[in-house]
Amino acid sequence: MTHDYDAVVVGGSFAGLSAAMQLARARKKICVVDAGAPRNRFAAQSHGFFGQDGVPPLKMIADARDKLLAYPSVTFVEGYATDAKADGAGGFTVSLQGREAPLSTRRMLLAFGVQDQLPDIEGMRERWGHSVLHCPYCHGYEVADRKLGVLYAAPQPPDHALLIADWGPTTLFLNGNTGVLTDEVRARLQARGVSIEPGRVSGLEGNAPDLAGVRIGDGRVVPIDALFVVPRTRMNGSLAEQLGCAIDEGPVGPVIRTDDFKTTTVPGVYAAGDIAMPFQNATRASSDGVLAGVALHRSLVFDV
Ligand SMILES: Cc1cc2nc3c(=O)[nH]c(=O)nc-3n(C[C@H](O)[C@H](O)[C@H](O)COP(=O)(O)OP(=O)(O)OC[C@H]3O[C@@H](n4cnc5c(N)ncnc54)[C@H](O)[C@@H]3O)c2cc1C
Repeated sequence: MTHDYDAVVVGGSFAGLSAAMQLARARKKICVVDAGAPRNRFAAQSHGFFGQDGVPPLKMIADARDKLLAYPSVTFVEGYATDAKADGAGGFTVSLQGREAPLSTRRMLLAFGVQDQLPDIEGMRERWGHSVLHCPYCHGYEVADRKLGVLYAAPQPPDHALLIADWGPTTLFLNGNTGVLTDEVRARLQARGVSIEPGRVSGLEGNAPDLAGVRIGDGRVVPIDALFVVPRTRMNGSLAEQLGCAIDEGPVGPVIRTDDFKTTTVPGVYAAGDIAMPFQNATRASSDGVLAGVALHRSLVFDV
C-alpha cells in the first residue's frame, strides 16, 4: 500500500510546527493538521522564548507556519483530526472533521496540546492569561512588585507561594484547605512575608480582564492585582487513546508516555509538546518537537 504522506502531524503550534520543520527540511511529504487553538492564545504576549520575548503567541505561530509553508513537500490543513487508527499496512489513517476521505500516512506525530481546567470560581475564565496566571516565568515580570496572590489547589504544594514571593508581596489563598499547611511550611511562608488567607474563595473582583481583588466567602475582598493558579490539564481529544498509546499521570494531568526520542509505546507514533512532557512551556514544546521530528525521520530511513 502506498500512503499519501510520510507523516501526518496533528497540532500545528510550537511542538507540531517545530517537528514539521525538521521533516520538511528532510524533504518528507507531510501534512500538518491544526485546529488553531494553542494553549497560550489567551495571553497578549508570550515571554521567555529565544529571540521572541514579548511577541504575541499567535504571531509567533503564524510566522512559524509561513516559514514552514515555504517548503514544497508540506501540506497544511486547518481542521480537526477526530479519529486515527492503524491501517494494517504499517501506517495509519487519520479522519478529519467534515472531510470524507481520511488521510493515509506512514507515521504519525501527535502534538495536539492540552487544555487547562480552571477552578470553578466566578471570574476566573475571563481573566485567564491576563490577571489570572499560571507561570511566573512567563508572566511574573509584568506584574512584579504588585499585589500577588496564589490560589492553592491540589496537587500543587502550598509552598508554591514561596516561589511567587520572588516577584512581589504575596498572599496564599488556601480556599478552605487549611489542613494542607504543615507547621514547617507555615513558618517558611511567614519568614518569607507571605500572608495566609484560609477562607474559601467565592469570586474575583474588578473590571475583567483586570483583577482588583479576591472575594472570600464571608464577603471580604482581599486586594490583589494578579492571581497565580496551577490548573489541572487534560489532553485536547482522544487520539492518543484511540491509537493505544500508554498514558501516565503527570504532576497536573495525563502525559503520553514516550522514550528519549519521543516514540510512544505504539511503533510509528511520536508525541511532542505539552501532551508528552511534564513542566511545559513553549520553548520546551518546540525543542520536544524538533526531537520528535528528527526521530520520526530516522525511523523512515532505518525502518525502526
Ligand atoms: C495563558 C497561558 C500563557 C502562556 N504563556 C507562555 C509564555 O509566555 N511562554 C511560554 O514559554 N509558555 C507559555 N505558555 C505555555 C505554552 O502555551 C505551551 O507550553 C505551548 O503552547 C505548548 O505547545 P504545544 O505545541 O505542545 O501545544 P499548543 O500550543 O497547545 O498547540 C496544540 C495545537 O493543536 C491543535 N489541536 C488540538 N487538537 C487537535 C486535533 N484533534 N486536530 C487538529 N489540531 C488539534 C490546537 O488547536 C493547537 O493549535 C502559556 C500557557 C498558558 C495557558
